[in-house]
Amino acid sequence: MVKSSVLGYPRIGEQRQWKKALESFWNEQINEQQLLSQLQEIRLQHLSKQKEAGIDLIPVNDFSLYDQVLDTSTMLGLIPQRFQYNGGEVSTQLYYEIARGSKDATASEMTKWFNTNYHYIVPELGNIEPQLTVNRPLLAYQEAKQQLNIESKPVLLGLFTFVKLSKGYKADQFNTWIEKLLPLYVQILQQLEQAGVQWIQVDEPALVQQLSDEDLVIIQNIYSVLAQSAPKLQIMLQTYFESIERYEEIVQLPVAGIGLDFVHGAKQNLQHIKQSGFPANKVLGAGVIDGRNIWKANLSEQHQLLQSLKEKVGDEQLWVQSSCSLLHVPVSLTREDKLPEAIRNVMAYADEKLVEIVQLTQAINCVDIGYLTQIEQDKAAFAIFNNLEQRNQQQVYATIDDLKKTGLERSVPFANRYDEQQQKLELPILPTTTIGSFPQSLEVRQARQLWRKGEWNEERYNAFIEAEIDRWIIIQEQLGLDVLVHGEFERTDMVEFFGEKLGGFVFTKNGWVQSYGSRCVKPPVIYGDVTFNEPMTLKETVYAQEQTKKPVKGMLTGPITIMNWSFVRQDIAREEIAYQLAYALRQEVEALEAAGIPIIQVDEPAVREGLPLKSEEQQSYLDWSIRAFRMTTSSVQATTQIHTHMCYCDFHDMIASIESMDADVISIETSRSHGELIGSFEQNTYPQGIGLGVYDIHSPRVPAVAEMTSMIDRALQVLSPKIFWINPDCGLKTRKETETIDALRNMVTATLEAREKLQLQTVE
Ligand code: GLN
Ligand code: ZN
Repeated sequence: MVKSSVLGYPRIGEQRQWKKALESFWNEQINEQQLLSQLQEIRLQHLSKQKEAGIDLIPVNDFSLYDQVLDTSTMLGLIPQRFQYNGGEVSTQLYYEIARGSKDATASEMTKWFNTNYHYIVPELGNIEPQLTVNRPLLAYQEAKQQLNIESKPVLLGLFTFVKLSKGYKADQFNTWIEKLLPLYVQILQQLEQAGVQWIQVDEPALVQQLSDEDLVIIQNIYSVLAQSAPKLQIMLQTYFESIERYEEIVQLPVAGIGLDFVHGAKQNLQHIKQSGFPANKVLGAGVIDGRNIWKANLSEQHQLLQSLKEKVGDEQLWVQSSCSLLHVPVSLTREDKLPEAIRNVMAYADEKLVEIVQLTQAINCVDIGYLTQIEQDKAAFAIFNNLEQRNQQQVYATIDDLKKTGLERSVPFANRYDEQQQKLELPILPTTTIGSFPQSLEVRQARQLWRKGEWNEERYNAFIEAEIDRWIIIQEQLGLDVLVHGEFERTDMVEFFGEKLGGFVFTKNGWVQSYGSRCVKPPVIYGDVTFNEPMTLKETVYAQEQTKKPVKGMLTGPITIMNWSFVRQDIAREEIAYQLAYALRQEVEALEAAGIPIIQVDEPAVREGLPLKSEEQQSYLDWSIRAFRMTTSSVQATTQIHTHMCYCDFHDMIASIESMDADVISIETSRSHGELIGSFEQNTYPQGIGLGVYDIHSPRVPAVAEMTSMIDRALQVLSPKIFWINPDCGLKTRKETETIDALRNMVTATLEAREKLQLQTVE
């Protein structure tokens, strides 16, 4: 019989109970005992749910108190030295200190989990002796067995991926760390074997990214040691997010099963199987239900796919499963009672995906319960969905086709634009500005809520926003900033704000997914063609410009960022969705320009995180991302200055692409890798306007003038003062008002000093 399997289930709970439990513990509203028992209740509920749905292989140890990677590093005793850990069990308190920082020690860094929006805590290997502090998969297995009589499948992050994701070692020490940690993995697996565990899922998503010959030798060594040490324990070597590299060698590893993604990277994975076959003695975990998106699967297509796989591997050797952990999708559609029916009927969150997995498994086993009626129902639902007017905006396609045929270039090259803009804007050397948002104070957030609830009418709310803009225009003038902003007080979030005003989006009530720690996000859903209805940022921007003689910079979120932070439709390519967004935003840019706004910033903080995992696909992604940016910004006159802003990642490997965006000015967040970025300008000259962020906005600390001066001096060693801008490294919405004003005052002081120094130099 073909079996059904899940790779992981969301931990946040149907009503985000998990988040609430964590936060109450951190705020000392509940004690550790209460936390642990609340979490256990949630955890067991999730297991029962999967059991009731009919899942055969239910994952355990996918649950976490914060993050599964942090679980792994604390299990292996890899506690950074600054936490002064002396071995033994890692307390809940210490665990959270590593994740969130303590009075005396900064938190470990966090970063994106592959190409998802989930962030993990980066393990720091450094100068530590690893030790097994606890066997988490074993505890989870025993709990499921004792409490619910479930014969579960523990999940463990694979050693190869774990070390790849870690930092604190040099490239040539990679294998040393593998060798150091391998005995601990052996211990974990042997204990599981002794406890009678049948299957363990070992996650190795790193196998979908380029593997060298040395990597392969290391992987072969890991799995032959593990297989020999616990011969009765069956390992499901699980990959996801893309097709695996070095297929022929990987499938020959001495493991009992190989899990492949047949949603993302399906084509290549299938081709591998067709070309090279699949080993007769192994189980194939077929990830046919998308763990990354919120749409219903096409059951008959996936059924056909499974049928052809079954012919290859036989029915005892096939598992029907999710493409990756369901961590990346919301929990349950039951509470989505506000969504238009035509859209809701074609959606599936985690719980609905469990049903799909089971239906497909039953269908392939020929015990058809409901599968055929489901297919008919889905067909009807998709037909209605596809006929929605918003999915058939022919003129959008036609215009975009025409636009694509043009070069999407500014009418005048940068060198000439520069002079024209200088003349028009009359900016001093080293102009100062900010990235857009000012503090979202409690009053601002409350005002927005009152207005959303209908307790404040439009007029009252507008008056409030205008008063806030007035106040901050005066503050900016008093500080002596050169290019002002309106402050973004009307925006909750830089994607939601635009999504609510554009056509083609819907917003869910309960579509939460974990982003990092207890923080959850609710991505908008792009279900149709994106259309521009009316100007979105004009009112506030024009109002701000009317209050001052200094130039005000208009502010919008770029197409790639809006796309990367949304759940998107699947029937057209991401590239086309990006162009639709770009075309809509182009109309916004034109409206701002027509209203006399001299500078327009199009934020693209999320370009880097959408980079494909396969290196051979990266350039094409960057190319069309840049084309989308240029579609948004290229129609303005030479004298209109286009800014952009990027953050969150290391940009040194994409400087060439950044240059071809052809923005007049770019600001880049560099707080964590400032030196590295400056270094990359030593090798590459950058000709256009650039602001490297002279202070880190992520901390409440007000940096001294001297700190900013040294940042400016360093940057001016590699960048011409003609093009250098001075600004904080990101938006200021999370900061307090006094901090913000004090820091900006120091920034302006540092700028005045730098200008004076430059003048002296030119006089000499
Ligand atoms: N303009 C936005 C702001 O200042 C940019 C935010 C971002 O970089 N993520 O808030
Ligand atoms: Zn930023």
